[in-house]
Amino acid sequence: MDRLEATLFEKSSPGRRGCHPPSGGVALVDPVAVLGAELVRETPPALPELGELQVLRHFMRLSQLNFSIDTNFYPLGSCTMKYNPRVNEVTARMPGFARLHPMQPMEAAQGALELMHNLQNDLQEITGMDGFTLQPAAGAHGELTALFMAAAYFRDRGEKRTRVVVPDSSHGTNPASAALAGFEVITIPTNAAGDVDLEQLKQHLNNEVACLMLTNPSTLGLFEQHIVEVARLVHEAGGLLYYDGANMNALLGVARPGDMGFDLVHLNLHKTMSTPHGGGGPGAGPVGARGALVDYLPGPRSARQGEGFTFETPSKSIGRVRMFWGNFLVLVRAYTYIRHHGPEGLREVAEGAVMAANYLRARVKDAFDMPYDRLCMHEFVLSARTMKEKKGVRAMDVAKRLLDYGFHAPTVYFPLCVEEALMIEPTETETLETLDSFAEALLKIAQEDVALVTTAPHTTPVGRADEARAARKPILRWEGEAP
Ligand SMILES: *Cc1c(COP(=O)(O)O)cnc(C)c1O
Repeated sequence: MDRLEATLFEKSSPGRRGCHPPSGGVALVDPVAVLGAELVRETPPALPELGELQVLRHFMRLSQLNFSIDTNFYPLGSCTMKYNPRVNEVTARMPGFARLHPMQPMEAAQGALELMHNLQNDLQEITGMDGFTLQPAAGAHGELTALFMAAAYFRDRGEKRTRVVVPDSSHGTNPASAALAGFEVITIPTNAAGDVDLEQLKQHLNNEVACLMLTNPSTLGLFEQHIVEVARLVHEAGGLLYYDGANMNALLGVARPGDMGFDLVHLNLHKTMSTPHGGGGPGAGPVGARGALVDYLPGPRSARQGEGFTFETPSKSIGRVRMFWGNFLVLVRAYTYIRHHGPEGLREVAEGAVMAANYLRARVKDAFDMPYDRLCMHEFVLSARTMKEKKGVRAMDVAKRLLDYGFHAPTVYFPLCVEEALMIEPTETETLETLDSFAEALLKIAQEDVALVTTAPHTTPVGRADEARAARKPILRWEGEAP
């Protein structure tokens, strides 16, 4: 395949310069005296030589090959791809936050500690937990942290609990985190209504189960109807209830995991509290705990000390789960998001997300299979099963064809318990016009010529990539010659 944009090395031409420092304006130092002879290059580094405008246009063109939330609708279920308010960027760029040094003394970082302290409190209030740690760097990291806490808790109580139960609709990170934390994973099926199968749950609960990991609303976009009963059963068996908070966007200001009986939670600040998702990070996966579990939270946590703030580690803490706060600016964005919405605004976020999802679901349900046909929360799952059987058009084909209409594809083939799944999360931030045009595109694709759909996309910079080859033999390096 021809590359769409040559590298800066290929565009380089000797002697071209992007900027011209004033001659004599830079103090001349002897590099050998400063660095030592062994560290000084004998030949200058082979950097590309280009004019400023060339570089600017290169990166601008690359940026336009990307699909982004700032250019188009991005209904990727489970990921909560919503608009990231620009005020977040203003606060995250404040020099007092952006230029903090990791080794800065506590007295000189009081503002940052105060922000962390307030954020811990806000997350506590939002989720109904008794304490929070901001240490974990992502949702999966939060899961692992909470499972380590559960293990330490049971170890202290002298209980040997080696199993973690997950529903078959759960995100892949749930069983992966449980296995990484040393637990045996037990998967239980979802019932016909899309809830946890209570009979199956009862059969698997015993004094070896440490924890049930639940996403609520589930990854099917459904609120667990028997959550109170589920919590009672797990607690009666002496286990803990873990809340995967990736779907908290649906519940903000409306319902709290703590009130439903959850003991441990993680939130994905980069989903629910808005942070640009790009290139896999950075994110933040704070963990909250209730009751006796608070003592096991990783430290350090920001705590009040007299008029100011300090770092403190809980008494039975499992220790650190990372070193420095490299994702601190994600915390600044989340705090900004929470404060500029306020309690009323956060509730509107959840209500808007749920309304948008139900609107879309109702508009497209006749063209696809709807495996769980009931009111949804902030997302819903369609299936292209009948379409595949009748015409050979698969969920992946529909997803690719949507790109031609200018929409990002929804999540496909997840959750695993739904065949040919298309998982759609519109979020609260889109207009009715956008939702309507997306629904119309889906309805149209359902009627389109099979060959047109199965060879899509036709209008994107790159057509249908060979995904298996891309995964097995990725080409991650430019192999050309530097000038
Ligand atoms: C995104 C997600 C996770 C994992 O979170 P990361 O921040 O990507 O590590 C876990 N569970 C669910 C339901 C998710 O959607």
